[in-house]
Amino acid sequence: MIPALLVLNAGSSSLKFQVFEFQVSEFQVFEPQASEPQVLESAARGAPHRLFRGLVEDLGGSPRLTVRDRAGAVLADERLGAGAGHEDALLHLAGWLRAHRGGHALAAVGHRVVHGGLAYGGPVRVDEAVLRELERLVPLAPLHQPHNLEPIRIVRRQFPDLPQVACFDTAFHRDQPEVAQLFALPQEMTARGVRRYGFHGLSYAYIASVLGAYGPALPRSRVVAAHLGNGASLCALDGGRSVATTMGFSALDGLPMGTRAGSLDAGVVFYMLREMGLDPDEAEQLLYTRSGLLGVSGLSNDMRTLRARAATHPGARRAIDLFVYRIGREIGSLVAALGGIDALVFTGGIGENDAATRAEVLRAAAWAGFTLDEAANAAGGPRITRGPGPAAFVIPTDEEAMIARGVCAVLDEARQPAL
Ligand code: ADP
Repeated sequence: MIPALLVLNAGSSSLKFQVFEFQVSEFQVFEPQASEPQVLESAARGAPHRLFRGLVEDLGGSPRLTVRDRAGAVLADERLGAGAGHEDALLHLAGWLRAHRGGHALAAVGHRVVHGGLAYGGPVRVDEAVLRELERLVPLAPLHQPHNLEPIRIVRRQFPDLPQVACFDTAFHRDQPEVAQLFALPQEMTARGVRRYGFHGLSYAYIASVLGAYGPALPRSRVVAAHLGNGASLCALDGGRSVATTMGFSALDGLPMGTRAGSLDAGVVFYMLREMGLDPDEAEQLLYTRSGLLGVSGLSNDMRTLRARAATHPGARRAIDLFVYRIGREIGSLVAALGGIDALVFTGGIGENDAATRAEVLRAAAWAGFTLDEAANAAGGPRITRGPGPAAFVIPTDEEAMIARGVCAVLDEARQPAL
């Protein structure tokens, strides 16, 4: 049996996962509800090595499991029973892993959890007390946190001794200066947790960790990272640490996104509630699922569709223009927070793949001294500027690798002998 580290990113009706080979000095495998874990082998640990990635979609409906290898070849495409939920999906996946290519046994699970509140500035091994603390944060991220926590409960039930580690989207921003985390609200509101947390932290932590591969001085520089996907935000990195970011209390703040509005005058929400007759749930739905690129274009939340129609569909053009305009303005704000800029990094589905958006953003930020290298941009980078001004790069993000590293770090720490 090959020890496997399972990385989970759970949504309401989907379960994204990646499987890494888990090399540990002494490792245990866990079978569902087995009383005694089995100590299997000794091996030196290297960086987590990715084996598979996959998805269970349409949970609760007609779920389907797809697994691909590192090169993207499909290894499994299976239907689960109608109505199967997260628990069935996890058991099915564990069974598939046990049966596949020499057999993989679960040795640890890492979870992407959107909110770690103020308590967690890094990954944490989950026990009952941690889980209770994370459940207290559900009101801060009601659309994501419950779905992220459900698999943790399931794994605790099915594999009671299997080590689980939670890795948070908020954690990377916890060391920001206090002014960057405060709203101008009465102190009692701040004390009750109404403050800027920031998200996409796993992506930014990954980007910060690989900057050195793109330029020896970059890890010590002033960098604005732009995670542009269905969710979108910017983060100011000073010497690899987050000092400001565009998302705040919720993942609704900052840039317009696929279906989310981004920053909005709070007065608009009161107007929706009082004058337009929406109840809070309807207003929330509108701002999370019917706004952003979708709402403005009246066409799609998908940048590929908008680009394909931009020449003929005024809504598509308007949505792209607003997206780029807002990114340009927010870059200005983060450059002010950094006191200058040495590099801009594009990542996420749009940032990594859409050369037109990158070119438009660099034109909007030309005041900062960027000179676009059209050919390099069309080729996907990595460096897409030339000349003496600040540089721009395309760097693919890897949030799952960050979670795998987090799991290893937490479990290694636990294994250190006490002094
Ligand atoms: P999520 O935030 O859900 O992880 P992604 O990071 O996968 O989302 O980004 C999804 C976005 O990336 C969509 O708007 C999609 O259109 C866009 N995208 C993906 N590939 C391309 C491409 N080749 N050209 C333009 N946009 C792309």
